Amino acid sequence: MTREVTDDVTGGMTGGMTGGMTGGMTGGMTGMVRTVLGDRDPAGLGILDYHEHLFHASPLLPGEDLDDAAASEREFAALLHSGFDGIIDATPIGLGRRTAELAGIAARTGGVVVASTGRHRDAHYAEPLPIADDDLAEVLARELVVGVPADDAAYRRTATPEPATRSGAPIRAGQIKVGIDYWRISGAERQALLAAAEAHRRTGAPVMVHTERMSAVLEVLALLGDHGVPAASVAIAHADRNPDPGLHAEVAETGAYLGYDGAARLRDWPESVLLDCLAAVVERGHGDRVLIGGDVARRSGYVSHGGLPGLSYLGDRYLPRLRRRVGERILDQILRVNPARYLTWRRPAAGG
Ligand SMILES: [Zn+2]
Repeated sequence: MTREVTDDVTGGMTGGMTGGMTGGMTGGMTGMVRTVLGDRDPAGLGILDYHEHLFHASPLLPGEDLDDAAASEREFAALLHSGFDGIIDATPIGLGRRTAELAGIAARTGGVVVASTGRHRDAHYAEPLPIADDDLAEVLARELVVGVPADDAAYRRTATPEPATRSGAPIRAGQIKVGIDYWRISGAERQALLAAAEAHRRTGAPVMVHTERMSAVLEVLALLGDHGVPAASVAIAHADRNPDPGLHAEVAETGAYLGYDGAARLRDWPESVLLDCLAAVVERGHGDRVLIGGDVARRSGYVSHGGLPGLSYLGDRYLPRLRRRVGERILDQILRVNPARYLTWRRPAAGG
């Protein structure tokens, strides 16, 4: 059983929120970014790392769980110290998500944190989530509009768990995260994409898609587009795991964002390859479509757990090279302007 989401979306939406796909789409463009501590003006968010995980657990990364709030807070503080003002935490439902802790970390550090709802690609789940495909869109919309439960296990007890709160306010997700496999979109992954599209149509929230080395990226964008998600509300994670500037330009021309998060992955190729690719994309006029993040996502990558290189690697080591390569103006666009634009909730002007 699910009940319809009827709560009004605050933060500048003029239209009421309704559960039905056909009704109530009267809201204009919004101009709002939803963080774990409430809605913010996109212009004031500062410099954002588009992709990290302060909490994470997946069978694909055994022994690498991020489940220690104090350590995650120290690591996040180090990222802020390296020059960033905040992050998108890209952990979706059932992967060790701890949204109430995210809000606490954001409040204590003063950093911006945007939380995710969504269902990842199949490989990340040892067992399926206790949420039926038919209920998934409703759950995603609820987490965006009503709030995220303190514990994802709550979905084993009820389809409509109470949201976690901080200072009396519900903690809500600000983006939808989904994913697909290498040149393959499984039945469940397709259902998650369709649910993400429905939740987007109902809320205007942005959609981050994990792809394996950009395989099937144009197919995913077409599927989302066919179901009402404009490419400008989509970010493709790990674009630089396939550092092909021609493909990147093709994706950027659709309006979608290219998530670069491959710094410090030296086993694949030197960072000069990523810098070359990014510079070539900028040269083709697509500097307005690039996002930068770390996506460390591993205990062994956190200095606060005794690992390397840490979240602060991005600000301390990688950004200086990027600045020298593309210049201050493009860097500011990539770090400040693009993530704020991607994160802004968008809906059709009228009539749905
Ligand atoms: Zn990630």
